[in-house]
Amino acid sequence: MGETEQAAARVASEGTPGRSVSVNGRAYAWPAQPTVVVCFDGCDPAYVAAARAAGVVPTLERMCREGFSALALAAMPTFTNPNNVSIVCGVPPAVHGVSGNFYLDRATGADVMMVDATPMRAPTLLAAFSQAGAKVVAVTAKDKLRKALGHGLAGIAFSAEKADAARADENGISDLAALVGRGAPDQYSADLSLYVLDAGIRLLETRRPDLSYLSLSDYVQHKHAPDAPEALAFMQAVDDRLARILALGARLGIVADHGMSDMAAADGTPNVIYLGDRLDALFGAGATRVICPITDPFVRHHGALGGFVRVHLQQPNVEPEAVLDAIRQMPGIALAAARAEACLRFDLPEDREGDIAVIAGKGIALGAHARDHDLSQLSGARLRSHGGLEEQVVPFILSHPLKADRAGRLQLRNYDVFSVLLNDVAA
Ligand SMILES: [Zn+2]
Repeated sequence: MGETEQAAARVASEGTPGRSVSVNGRAYAWPAQPTVVVCFDGCDPAYVAAARAAGVVPTLERMCREGFSALALAAMPTFTNPNNVSIVCGVPPAVHGVSGNFYLDRATGADVMMVDATPMRAPTLLAAFSQAGAKVVAVTAKDKLRKALGHGLAGIAFSAEKADAARADENGISDLAALVGRGAPDQYSADLSLYVLDAGIRLLETRRPDLSYLSLSDYVQHKHAPDAPEALAFMQAVDDRLARILALGARLGIVADHGMSDMAAADGTPNVIYLGDRLDALFGAGATRVICPITDPFVRHHGALGGFVRVHLQQPNVEPEAVLDAIRQMPGIALAAARAEACLRFDLPEDREGDIAVIAGKGIALGAHARDHDLSQLSGARLRSHGGLEEQVVPFILSHPLKADRAGRLQLRNYDVFSVLLNDVAA
């Protein structure tokens, strides 16, 4: 859309309060005030509970008291990319196609790492609002997620990771150091998330966007348990920024993309089932291939170990039922399901699913082969990760209460947050 068309769409949107934007089969009311959604990466409900108990999150307390607080389900598998894409599309992975950071293309047999919007099959509501003339901002921690979430967005979209390289033609903004008051943060730091929030606040102050999506990093949650001093300090620092967002007159919604679980044994060593090694021993090397969809270039804090993996059968003489039965008999496995069942249960796209989806039990991580996972990068810390059913329940906290007639309607998904915030809260 050219600038003239955008201007025309903007004019058409003014003075039409009943106007809404429809995306992926859902209608969203035009923002009545600046509307901000924070995707609090890895914010298991336990972090909110510990921070509330410690008295360090007065803004979250106020939102729970005066607004709305519930638990919601994240999309499966409980990884960052599928859930961020679900939230900005308002639909599950079966519709938008992103069910992992990394997958095996069933048609070509090639490994695919998600590095941009290529795997996405649905438009985002951010793009749709921007094309209808709304001022839209998307700020992410990592740049590959910005490339996906910013697809089609005629507005401002940048990452904290690459903030220093933001350009007007690519990101809709430049010279972020002057705006935010500091340069791009270390990608392995709590400041990666705080920078996202600080940038969102400065944009609210200076440009007053209609719609903002601020997506944080789970660096702190991977490293620290909810009651650790570092986690509480981070919650407090986030809470300070939420207060500033509310003081600027925004309508605010907070969800997480997934929770976070301790996956270490009593002695501190990672509690891992190396499914690739187990299946090689049972069916022969090369009979199966285990894909870890948590795999991304930022493996330092989880070693590519999570609660969900996909098994692809590689040889025609391997019986799917035999492999499924063998996995189900392994202690520590919560669920193993053939592709059709996995897609049915979890709203997943069939062409990107493995032959068997495998979910670990509580406190257990799944890997491929031990040799593929570099645990030295954990630097002796306990493994904390996500991906399975244990990390599916997440907070859903709004600054405003629901309209009276909506309060009973509660089967929430994290990807309902824009819909509820725009359509269902009492202004
Ligand atoms: Zn995440």
